[in-house]
Amino acid sequence: MIVIIRSQATSAQRAQLLALVNRLTGSHGGQQPLTSVKIDGREVIVCESGHLDAQSLPLLKQQEAVERVVPIATAYKLVSRAFKTQTSSIVVGAATIAEPVVIGGADSMPVVIAGPCAVEGREQLLTIAHAVKAAGGRMLRGGAFKPRTSPYQFQGLGIQGLQLLAEARAETGLPIITEVMEPDLVETVAHYADVLQIGSRNMQNFPLLLAAGRNSCKRPVMLKRGLSATIDEWLLAAEYIVSAGNPNVILCERGIRSFDIQTRNVLDLACVPLLHELTHLPVIVDPSHATGRRELVPTMSRAAIAAGAEGLILEVHPEPNHALCDGRQSITPEQLQTIVHETDVMAQFMYNTVRVPQVA
Ligand code: PEP
Ligand code: MN
Repeated sequence: MIVIIRSQATSAQRAQLLALVNRLTGSHGGQQPLTSVKIDGREVIVCESGHLDAQSLPLLKQQEAVERVVPIATAYKLVSRAFKTQTSSIVVGAATIAEPVVIGGADSMPVVIAGPCAVEGREQLLTIAHAVKAAGGRMLRGGAFKPRTSPYQFQGLGIQGLQLLAEARAETGLPIITEVMEPDLVETVAHYADVLQIGSRNMQNFPLLLAAGRNSCKRPVMLKRGLSATIDEWLLAAEYIVSAGNPNVILCERGIRSFDIQTRNVLDLACVPLLHELTHLPVIVDPSHATGRRELVPTMSRAAIAAGAEGLILEVHPEPNHALCDGRQSITPEQLQTIVHETDVMAQFMYNTVRVPQVA
């Protein structure tokens, strides 16, 4: 249940409401008392309605501080479509010198994000950044802090990698997205990046999710699906970020673990239309990590757009076979140009035929 507080409510009325909600839901003794959060300019209290008895709801609705009570049956609340019917538009790049990009929302077209798996050096990154821009990509990706399976693999350039990304943004105007792995580094990464990436391996790193909610100056966060995460677990991870104060979350499907090793992961494209039913958050797809094979990336990119994805994130490298990380799945700048073109064509088709309501 979400209790929406009237903007004109006095602080006494608010305090009275909070005390009542805490009493009715039993959030005293043991549990942390509930507090209100600000979401999209509205102040709300989020609580589990399961514990409320039949008289509680009318009592709540009568409170002078209450504008509306939205019943929400799912465990995730603020990210639920039941709370917000319009798909969220996430504005990227508004806080830096980047050219702003909008991800999600009724009139936005799919956004192609591309770049190397890892920032390897100045020349590599700037070459790729210019190639991404020339190919029509709208944002630049690049890992500075790399979550590698083996401690002996290249771990990323760290802060130097962030500085190079900022330089690439200054040269191209492309907003940058990069991964953050530690709660204590959220502020630092937010200082450089336009979007913070939370990777699959950290989807349920709850201190990191809370830090991205609280300490990122509301920088958009792209939350990748965990290696074997269910959709509910993923949406609850997003709920952590939003309930901690940052409503700007983008979901990224990057494939899930299965038994077949022919592809790196299994791209769950059905999750795209399903998520559009369950949540108002935009969804983008990462065919690079999902397939692990560059030859499959163009087809699965088209398929993702056909499924309704609000964007793609692709790994690109001028010399994929010499990439320090994920070369097997990295496409070339030439392939990127084709995918951007095909994305535009597919998106136009989708916009004209699928999204626009048919006139009877
Ligand atoms: C990445 O984007 O480079 C990455 C490590 O992705 P994932 O967290 O999906 O494995
Ligand atoms: Mn990678």
